[in-house]
Amino acid sequence: AKEAGKGRSAVFAPDMDSAIIGQLQMKAELARAVERGEFTVHYQPTVELASGRLAGVEALVRWQHPERGLVPPLDFIPLAESTGLIVPIGRFVLREACRQMRAWHDAFPSEPPMTVSVNLSARELDEPGLVASVRDALEESGLDPAHLVLEITESLLLVDLPATMRALLELRALGVRLAVDDFGTGYSSLSYLEDLPVDILKIDKSFVDRIGKTGPDDGPAQPVMVSAISKLGHALHLQLVAEGIEQEEQVSTLQELACQYGQGYFFARPLPSDALTELLAERAGQ
Ligand code: C2E
Ligand code: CA
Ligand code: CA
Ligand code: CA
Repeated sequence: AKEAGKGRSAVFAPDMDSAIIGQLQMKAELARAVERGEFTVHYQPTVELASGRLAGVEALVRWQHPERGLVPPLDFIPLAESTGLIVPIGRFVLREACRQMRAWHDAFPSEPPMTVSVNLSARELDEPGLVASVRDALEESGLDPAHLVLEITESLLLVDLPATMRALLELRALGVRLAVDDFGTGYSSLSYLEDLPVDILKIDKSFVDRIGKTGPDDGPAQPVMVSAISKLGHALHLQLVAEGIEQEEQVSTLQELACQYGQGYFFARPLPSDALTELLAERAGQ
């Protein structure tokens, strides 16, 4: 039957697509999760390729669902964005990441100090309160702004360029650094890259994946894109971070291409804060 019974709530119509019911349920659960604070932050190391030194970490949110366990971000971030719940979730990640990095700085001082990177979504970048919440997170934690990096995906940068530019300049005026995430996948930023107030390019995993693969003539595929992005980055005086490094061979090729930093399962997976504290203690010989 196409039409729901009289007086019956549309949500419970018998022929309602179960996917839609699933969506609605998920939405309610996500709202509840925000109220109850069911989120946690994992941290994935970024390594200086030449020395193996731990240069920093990227903060990656997880939802600790009471029944479903640890839910990865790709399963809830899109819904969080469309509902606006990403704003309180993102604020939590920012505060928690700054607090945690300040605690690590105090416990494990290093020179230069480690940085912490936090991802920002489109919705957050649009939010008028963003700059104030970044400032608050820094003040509250006592983290030096120079050690906070905000990551923005390339595809986001051009949606509303003047507004984005204003937001980026305000953020940068706080002293934080900005990274273009997933660089090379957003198609169109090249001509704007010179004008954008960014400091770091994160080379997308899809390009790193091609290193070590077989090319069309059965020889090793040339890492053409990584090489080109690396040259572009150097010409613009940007720091380069290669994402999704899984093999040793990729490390040496990236070094040859003068990519300074890397991140990926080859070095470490994203870890809960306790596990990262242990790793830092080991490295510090404590
Ligand atoms: P991203 O910012 O590109 O983060 C890197 C993702 O790649 C992470 O997935 C990480 O676990 C994964 N990764 C790292 N190294 C490797 C590797 O060697 N191999 C493979 N196969 N994967 C690797 P994760 O944690 O599932 O996050 C997925 C995406 O969700 C992130 O992509 C980011 O766009 C978004 N995200 C995560 N946390 C947040 C957050 O706090 N706020 C917002 N707005 N987005 C977030
Ligand atoms: Ca990122
Ligand atoms: Ca990325
Ligand atoms: Ca990505």
